[in-house]
Order: sequence, then structure tokens, then C-alpha cells
Amino acid sequence: MFDSLSDRLGGVFDRLRGRGALSEDDVRGAMREVRIALLEADVALPVVRRFVDNVTELAIGQSVLRSVTPGQQVVKIVNDALVEMLGGGTAELDLVATPPVVIMMVGLQGSGKTTSTAKIAKLLKEKHGKKVMMASLDVNRPAAQEQLKVLGEQVGVATLPIIVGQLPVEIATRALNAAKLQAVDVLMLDTAGRLHVDQALMDEMKAVSAISVPKETLLVVDALTGQDAVNVAQSFSGEVDLTGIVLTRMDGDARGGAALSMRAVTGKPIKFAGTGEKLDAIEPFHPERVAGRILGMGDIVSMVEKAAATIQVEDAEKLAARMSKGQFDMNDLRTQLRQMQNMGGLGALAGMMPGMKKAKAAMAQSGMDDRVLLRMDAIIGSMTVKEREKPELLNAKRKIRVAKGSGTQVQDVNKLLKMHQEMAKAMKQIKKMGGLKGLGALFG
Ligand code: GDP
Repeated sequence: MFDSLSDRLGGVFDRLRGRGALSEDDVRGAMREVRIALLEADVALPVVRRFVDNVTELAIGQSVLRSVTPGQQVVKIVNDALVEMLGGGTAELDLVATPPVVIMMVGLQGSGKTTSTAKIAKLLKEKHGKKVMMASLDVNRPAAQEQLKVLGEQVGVATLPIIVGQLPVEIATRALNAAKLQAVDVLMLDTAGRLHVDQALMDEMKAVSAISVPKETLLVVDALTGQDAVNVAQSFSGEVDLTGIVLTRMDGDARGGAALSMRAVTGKPIKFAGTGEKLDAIEPFHPERVAGRILGMGDIVSMVEKAAATIQVEDAEKLAARMSKGQFDMNDLRTQLRQMQNMGGLGALAGMMPGMKKAKAAMAQSGMDDRVLLRMDAIIGSMTVKEREKPELLNAKRKIRVAKGSGTQVQDVNKLLKMHQEMAKAMKQIKKMGGLKGLGALFG
């Protein structure tokens, strides 16, 4: 599901993620890629436009939370916008009415309508303890009524006995009576499909709807048909009052265009996703989980949500081990900076770290606040992997580049290098003194 879209977006965010600071250009560049990814996923153009505009505006205007990077915050904004685009909350079936509550299933032939009818019946029976009956009103396709009967036997749900020669409205009337007599909770009417949206189909559907007064009218569409599925939904909703969409074959849908555009274009919620041929391969459609699946970054999203002071214990231990061996490169400094943010910024850190006391005093003197931590993080983020390990590789030209890349000045880069030197020196002294016992505890 959504594999190709997921891969594309993953790539965009990986490039943003490591950054300590994001410029407007970064955001706009990333959004250009998001736009292409969504268009390639066959999402409707107006939906893509609205989405990208929203996200861009939010991402550029935001203030940076402590303990997450701006890149991570962009992931969260995109996640929220996706959830919104998918319909916000989960749209549940509304079955609150005097039984038998009728669910009318409509759709084109081959969309998976009959299979979905049986899947939902099974779900209602097993998960909601409902007594369900199914009736096929499809008198056009010879084997249609037979097919529903077989499926009914497989899922253990009663089907209305077949009487050859009856018309759809007659079958519906008979089904309602039978359902009442047998104290059925939910009656599912599987209407006839057609190859195309045509007037005869619409008229029949309206007639059945008029006499059965369904609480839910669910349109079944095939996710693999992309924007066609959305167009079909538009045509149907002009004729009957659809209460929801069942999107089938999501299991094979790597692009996701129908799922992503459906709500925004038609205003109708997707209530179920078909995820395979088996009769239990159906899921209620949860926008949050789907967005999570598309982005594959649930970890970051929840982290930003908490934005809480959590120290990454593992990193801290690794760092302590390296420090007591006298090793301290830019990567270590970065870990340290992030921990400082997590621990409550500069103020909370006074005197805890060898070398830091002096650096902190210098910072305070020059009026630096906690934003400086993010800026330093960004400077390190703009260095190459080699430079982070060996900062002495940075020549004048590279310093200019790094400053530009991180949205800072060369003097900021120099200050950071100086601070690193002092800290590295302090680490060496610690090693000479035989290591710092309990240094790890400082971070743990
Ligand atoms: P109808 O003509 O709309 O009633 O379509 P059917 O219910 O007969 O389904 C047509 C085919 O699609 C069958 O082979 C189903 O097994 C298959 N199908 C239905 N839903 C799904 C789904 O969610 N995933 C997959 N992979 N196949 C499905």
C-alpha cells in the first residue's frame, strides 16, 4: 500500500531531517518535491495545490520547538495535513436506527461490491455482534445472486432465498419483510453493478433507496483506477445520497491517488479499505494510521508531539565512553548540543560538563541564548562527514560555505570551532587523569 509514494516522501524528508535549521528555500524545495510525489501518486491537481500551499505556509511561519529539529517539525506538519486531507477522524458506520438497519451497497461491476458486502457483513457479525442478512438485487448478471449466497455460507451470514424472475425493488421489499420477521439487526442490499455509470442503473438504485430507506449507502470503488474512482464517486453522489466509500484493492495500490483525493474532491468519507481477496481483508479507514503508513515516520510524529525533554540514553552512554577515551569530534559535540536542548537548555547545564563552564560563561557574556544551540547544530549539519570527524579540514572557503549552508556567519562557525577545540582539549586532560569515573552518570 502506498509504497511508491511512501518512498518518494521518505527521500524528501530524509534530506530535511538532519538539519538544525531550515531556511525558506529548504522548505520550498522540499515542497516542490512533495508536489511532484503527490502528482505521480495520481492525486487530483487542485488537492495537491491546496495541500502544498497549506503546508508551505505552516512550515515557514512556525516557531521552532525545543528538542526537535525544524526538519522533524515539517514532517509533523505534513503528517497533519495528510490526515486532514484523508478526512480527519475515522468515519464509522452509523447504524443507530430501528432495526433492521439497511446498508445499500452500490458501485460499478468488478469494483469488488459483492465481496465487500460479504466482508462488511462478516465484520458486523463478528466484531459488533450483529445479526446480519444479505440480499442480492443484481438480476442482470446471471451468477450474481448465487455468488452472494456462496459468500454468505463462507462467512456464516444468512442470505435471502433466491426467487428467479423478481425485480430489484421486489427483492428489496421481500428482504425487508424477511429481515423484520427474523429480527435481523442489519440488512445489506447488494445492488446491481453496471459497466458504466448509466441512467438505468441510477434509476434502479434510487427506486431501491426510496423503498428501503438505507441508513448507509456505501459506494464501492477500485483504488487501482485512481482518479477514475474519484470521478465515479462524483457521478454517484450526484444521484444518491452516499454516506461513505469503500475503497477496494488498496493492497495493490502503490500510488494512493484515489485514497488521497477522494475526501477532498467528493466530500465523502472513506469508511472501509479493502486489502485483499480474503473475506477478512477489510479495515475501517483510519486517516491517522494511513498517513502514518504513507510517511513511515510515526516515530518522529510522536516525538514532535511530545516535544518533551527526553534524553537519548544510548547516545549519552556512547558519548561518555568516547569522552573518557579523549575522543571528541563534531558528531560528539552535536550529540552534546542536542542533549543540552533536551535537558532544558544552557541554563540547566551550568558546570555539569568539563570545558562547558568556560564555554557557557563565554556564551552568556556575548548574550547568547538557547537558540544558539540550534544554530550550532545547523552549522555542524552543513559540514561534510569528514569535516565532522576532523574539523581542522575546514579551510576559509569551506567555512564560508558552511556558514551559508546553515544560515549563519563565518564568525559563528569560528566560535563553534573554538568551542569544540576547548572541549576536545578538556577531554584529553580527562583521559590523562585516568578517565572520569561516573561521567556516564552525568548523562544517564
Ligand atoms: P463486483 O462485480 O463489484 O461485485 O466485484 P466482486 O466482489 O465480484 O470482486 C471482483 C474481484 O475482485 C474478485 O475476484 C474479488 O476477490 C476481488 N477483490 C475484491 N476486493 C478486493 C480487494 O480489496 N483486494 C483484492 N486484491 N481483490 C479484491
